[in-house]
Formats: sequence, C-alpha cells, structure tokens
Amino acid sequence: MNALVKTVPGAGAQYLQVDIPMIKDDEVLVKVKASALCKSDVDVYEWTPVVQNLKLPLPKIMGHEFLGEVVETGGKVKGINVGDHIAGETHIPCGQCNCCKTGNPHICNNGMGVLGRSTDGAFAEYIKLPALCAIKIDNSIPVEHGAIMEPLATALHALSKAGVSGKSVAILGCGTIGLMAVELARFLGATWIFAVSTSQFKLDKALKLGADFCINNKTEDMVQIIMEKTHGLGVDVAVELTGNEGVINNVVKIMKPAGKIVFVGMIDYPLTFNNYMLGVVYKELVLTGIFGRRIFDTWEMLNAILETKRLNLEEYIGERLPLKDYEKAIKLSHSTAGRVILIP
Ligand SMILES: [Zn+2]
Ligand SMILES: [Zn+2]
Repeated sequence: MNALVKTVPGAGAQYLQVDIPMIKDDEVLVKVKASALCKSDVDVYEWTPVVQNLKLPLPKIMGHEFLGEVVETGGKVKGINVGDHIAGETHIPCGQCNCCKTGNPHICNNGMGVLGRSTDGAFAEYIKLPALCAIKIDNSIPVEHGAIMEPLATALHALSKAGVSGKSVAILGCGTIGLMAVELARFLGATWIFAVSTSQFKLDKALKLGADFCINNKTEDMVQIIMEKTHGLGVDVAVELTGNEGVINNVVKIMKPAGKIVFVGMIDYPLTFNNYMLGVVYKELVLTGIFGRRIFDTWEMLNAILETKRLNLEEYIGERLPLKDYEKAIKLSHSTAGRVILIP
C-alpha cells in the first residue's frame, strides 16, 4: 500500500510502498477513506523544536486524524464489525497504570501509545489499531467530515472541562480546533463568545460559526475590548490555543475572578509568566490543561451532538487533496482555515 512515512529525524517525509499491516486478536484493520492534516503532523514533517525532543521511534507512518471502514477484526474483538465506519482515538492507554484505573486513561502515564507517533498512523491506505480505540461514527456522516472527529472531540473536551453553559467564553486562537470551539461553545449554551486571532480570514469564519465579538489581536487590544464588553468584569472561561507567550500573559487580565482557563496550545520553551500573583493568585483563577479527549465520555457526547446534525462540519474542511500531494498539503496548512483533507 502507499503510505507517507517519517523515516529519519529531520525535515520531510517519504511517500513509500509498504506492507498492509497484520492485525492481532484485539485489533482491527481499517481502510482509510479520508484523513486530516493536523498541526502536530506538520510539526513532525517539518521537524520543529516541539517534536525534536520527543525521541520518536522512526520510521513510522504519519497521521492520526481519519475516518475509515473496518475491513477485518481480530478474534477477540466484540462490538465492531466489518463495514463499520470508525474514527481513531489517538491515545492508546495501557489499561494497567494508576491513571488508566482511576478514570483518566486518556492521559495514561505508562508509555501511552499515540497513533502516528509511537505506532503507524493514518496517512496510508490502511491502518491497524486496537479495537478499544476504534470509535464508531455513523455511516451517514461524509468521510471528510469523519476525518475531523478527533480534533472536534478535542475542542469538545476543552469546553466540557471548562463548563461553558451560561458563561462568557474567550477562544484564543482560531485554528481549526479554535473555530470548532466557537461553534461548540454556542451549541453548549455559552453567553458572549469572544474569538481572538491575528488572521482576519479566520475571524470572519469565527463570526459565521457563532462568535459574538471577533478581535484581531494584531491590530486591536484584546484586553481592552473584552473588559469593555464584560463591564470591567472579564470572561468566565478562556480556552488558550495559541501557545503564544504574549497571549498567555494577557489571558489572566481578561479573566473574571474565579474564572477558568483551559490550556490547549503547546509551548516548547520555559514560559515567563508575569501576572502570576495579581492574575492567578489574587483572582483565584482555575488553570487546567487538556490533552486529547476523555476516553470515552467525550466521544459519547460528540456522537450525540452529531446526531442533531446542527454542526456546520463543512466549515472545517480547508482543501481536499490526494495523499500523494502531501507537500502541497503541508504548504496549504499554513494558510488555510480548516483542515487539509488527504484522500489515500
Ligand atoms: Zn491532531
Ligand atoms: Zn495507563
């Protein structure tokens, strides 16, 4: 089969012919219908500092966001059948460690597997994965939309952890997950939604998806606008997706006392946090991170939301390209609002 393989540490990847994977008793073999290019794939491809220190075992087939059809199931697999459409839960928990046994398998700390990093990923014609991590997606959902379920579930986990119903929310960063968070915040019953980005194009999209106030962080003063619109109080919830030190330092200034900040964006160097005492301690802010999706609460909630057909999933699709045009896809990913979809 054709696959996009990260072969050596350093920029680039190779489009190669490799064997179709053989499955074990507890695994399923899936024919990939569509996959999506995540920022983290771009990091692996470009070999940015974020991934350089991860000591990834290479070679590995890249990619983790996908929708595929099950073509074979292992002998011990129950509840998943040939023909089912599935998305992959990227995190593969060990099932044995303290995290796994206390309701947090999504942040398993016993060598948690990660699709497309520690195991072969989805930028290929076929992928195998543990049946546990195969999430059934209704067959009526278009395959390109199915390919973005994993990041959509990440956005949902961030908002669920914050609790946004009846709350004012600032979404900082309008990449795909940020835009998804805007629409999901609206769906979940947030009051005012502020979308913040340096890209006017992405802000226009955020407005379309339900943001009340769009703030261009390049030309406008985020702190001033949010404080003004919230009568000097600040927002109840902020979701930080930029991983930008300047934004992170400003976020505590836009928070209502006792508000909650959910950190999603990655930062690959020691962070200087100027407003710790005045911002965090005096305001009793709640700071939390999220990593991936809760297994499996987030997926259950997401499937229930999808059933309503009220989300504008097409808005998150940037471009559609054949997998072999991966170089073009990487270039496009820097400018497109929404995910670049790759078809094997
Ligand atoms: Zn991703
Ligand atoms: Zn574990």
